[in-house]
Amino acid sequence: MMKRRDFVKLTAKGSIIALGAPALLDLVARDKLAAADVLPPELKGVLKAALANGGQFADVYLEQVDRTTVSLAGGKVESVECGIHRGGGVRLLSDWKTGYSSCDSWEEEELKRVAGVASQMARGGGEPEIEDFTRKGERGIVAYEISPDEIESARKVEIATHADTIARAYDPAIKQVRVNYTDEIKRIVVANSDGVMVTHEVPLVWITVSTLAQRDSKQQSGYIRRSAKRGFEYAGLAFAEEAARESARQAVDMLEAGEAPGGEIPVVIGSGGGVVFHEAVGHGLEADGVERKTSFYTGMVGTRVGSDLISIIDDGSIPNLRGSFDYDDEGTPSQENVLIENGILKGYIYDLLTAWKLKAKPTGNGRRQSYMHYPMVRMTNTHLLPGDSKPEEIIEATPNGIFTRHLGGGEVDTTTGDFTFGVREAYLIENGKIGAPVKGATLIGNGPEILKRIDMVGDDVDFWPGTCGKGQWVPVTSGAPTLRIASITVGGRG
Ligand SMILES: [Zn+2]
Repeated sequence: MMKRRDFVKLTAKGSIIALGAPALLDLVARDKLAAADVLPPELKGVLKAALANGGQFADVYLEQVDRTTVSLAGGKVESVECGIHRGGGVRLLSDWKTGYSSCDSWEEEELKRVAGVASQMARGGGEPEIEDFTRKGERGIVAYEISPDEIESARKVEIATHADTIARAYDPAIKQVRVNYTDEIKRIVVANSDGVMVTHEVPLVWITVSTLAQRDSKQQSGYIRRSAKRGFEYAGLAFAEEAARESARQAVDMLEAGEAPGGEIPVVIGSGGGVVFHEAVGHGLEADGVERKTSFYTGMVGTRVGSDLISIIDDGSIPNLRGSFDYDDEGTPSQENVLIENGILKGYIYDLLTAWKLKAKPTGNGRRQSYMHYPMVRMTNTHLLPGDSKPEEIIEATPNGIFTRHLGGGEVDTTTGDFTFGVREAYLIENGKIGAPVKGATLIGNGPEILKRIDMVGDDVDFWPGTCGKGQWVPVTSGAPTLRIASITVGGRG
């Protein structure tokens, strides 16, 4: 049952603003999903409207998101937002051109109207052909126990407040804390003119804790995110505590950091630094760039692109990771995709459109930010497979260099693979031991070149949650073991 509280927004002062009358939200998605048998005839009508002027393919995507966001700053609750966002989008593909239109409704007439808008991309007419639907159900990849929309928002405020308390208690040097907590449950229906129909649910919880430490005239910030495609059972106090403590530790430990050295030096990236491969390699393996021939990796399948130690996978079917799902937003099941194996480029990732254009199989990477966005090729959980070395052996084998524990944001040019990455937390390596903290380091390199320079890969692996922007935002993870880049340009101030 939907509750009245789902439709209100609590402002900082605690007053309540109604966002929508419950009467308008009587079509509860979950009930509708359970009774999905009533949907096919309606959806067929929508697809027919999309194909009325011709075209080769149409799909309809329906989404309802129940989302709660709690923002806390300076120890005070800034805002609590609980809302339901519902809508649908209709896409038409005609001679490789895309028509897309969306509305904030699941009403058949509204969906037919936007289908009519999408249909204007096509010329020449034609008899719409729509296959009978074969409905696919849940696969259990993002299974959850407790739906976040069943939990009162007061409990979520308590979790965010707990993170704030723990971060402040970590050290007197912690002067500022900001906590953002978000949970959501997304209910999705996808149907297309080829007869694919999918209904599934995708839960998500995440917390970010930003801290500022000050001592004497020095100050440093910490920033940690934790997230998973899990239900509320994951979002307990322990989850908040761990993120808060780690964020505070990072800020405090870096207070005594000296300036990072610059130059061409060995860098050991601590486990979880997979964002480098996401940015500097992964984006170049998305088939839209390959199809447009703007990617560095165009036409290179079967050739050596890295050292023997390098195997990179994109896999949306790993249970409960932030980038996982049962089906992508076009109804293709998520799967493991081997991109690079022992240094050899094996393949790219595709959505439906790029798979058709390049005569390949879709790989379960057609994703969209919301019903307002058409799908495009996106990564999911992109990770470098572990090797044989113990992390401590890698440090011991490195006489001098830098060890990075947390990377910051990066920028990459996918046509060349050139990148720069900020380093949030780093230490000197001196005589094979981790030494003093250093700040201000930037990694400057080229993705394809770095893949050849990695000469040690650890047996540990860690996945870090992130949000990938490519015109649209989607949740992802990047995974990597501890690894050594034999030499890379470090831009430092020292
Ligand atoms: Zn990205």
